[in-house]
Order: sequence, then structure tokens, then C-alpha cells
Amino acid sequence: MHVCCASCVVYVYRKLSVDYDVTCFFYNPNIHPRSEYDSRKKELERIAADNQWEVVYADYDTNQWFQLVKGHEKDPERGERCSICFHMRLEKTFAYAKTNGFDIVTSTLSISPYKVTRQINAEGEKLSRLFGVEFLPENFKKQDGYNKGKKMAMEMGIKHQNYCGCIYSKEEREKRVQIKNDKL
Ligand code: SF4
Repeated sequence: MHVCCASCVVYVYRKLSVDYDVTCFFYNPNIHPRSEYDSRKKELERIAADNQWEVVYADYDTNQWFQLVKGHEKDPERGERCSICFHMRLEKTFAYAKTNGFDIVTSTLSISPYKVTRQINAEGEKLSRLFGVEFLPENFKKQDGYNKGKKMAMEMGIKHQNYCGCIYSKEEREKRVQIKNDKL
């Protein structure tokens, strides 16, 4: 299971572990800056240790991420840049799954109400055909999944981040806050 961060994984892990033997795969070179990446990774390490979850940590190859999204810097969140970003992260997850004999791949990404589930699943389905590994096209925000997950994460003392991850989503968030403050 591709994992984007600790706050998104708690609910999804509990839900899936009823039917699956889950291994988490943390691959998120989109996260900016490095200090934020380290902080999200550390949170995952902490809860994974507390719950005895198996987690694989992949590289933080930001240069490749920036190369792939070149020309899409101004895309809005949920636009083409996000499809590229989902594809890159899921592709690495599929490659790991294929090499290591996993039967099925999914991602925590669809729990976010700010992400379009069909956009994530479209990339997952494409990669599933390419790698010949099944994809679980879930929508974890359904049945109040997002709020349940948020509550669980708060109870576990997990920090909730206030932007998606990349530098562009961070700038968008800062602009929104600035506009709000200017109106006060
Ligand atoms: S907004 Fe989120 S999903 Fe979209 S490109 Fe940035 S980090 Fe990736």
C-alpha cells in the first residue's frame, strides 16, 4: 500500500488489514521542503513502530519529481500536475510490488477530500495493466472515512499537515491564508 503520510494511513490500514496482509510503501518525493518530508516520515516511523506495521521507505528523489512536473508549475491542485505526481508515486509502488511478489497494490491517497479519486484510480489502473499486478481502486473517503481517519489520527497524536505536499500546493495554501488575513 502506497502511503502518503501518517495521518492518512491509520484508518486505511485498519480497514484493509481485516482482509489483507498489508505492507506500507512510503514514496513521496513530491514533499517539500526536506524538513517537512522528514517530519512526515518520522511520524510514520513512530506509529509504525507502535503498531508493528511493516513499512518500506523508498528514495527521496526530488530531482526526478521536478523534472516530471516541469511545465505544470502553475496547474491548479487536482490538475494535470497531480496526475503526474500520482503516477510517479504509484509506478514506484507497482515496481516494488512486482519485484517482491505482492498480489495487489493500493494507495492511501483517496482518503483526502481534496483529491479526485477517479484521477488517482485512473493512474492505478494504467499501471496495473503495465505491470500485471492487480490494483484496488478504493475510495477511502467514502462512509465518512476522512473524518473517522482524522479522529483516529488526532487520538494518536499525529500531526495533521495543512498542505498536500509539493512546493506549489504550499504556495497555494500560503496565498489563501494571506488573502484571508488581508480581509480581516
Ligand atoms: S498538489 Fe499534491 S498531488 Fe498535486 S502535485 Fe502537489 S503534492 Fe502532488
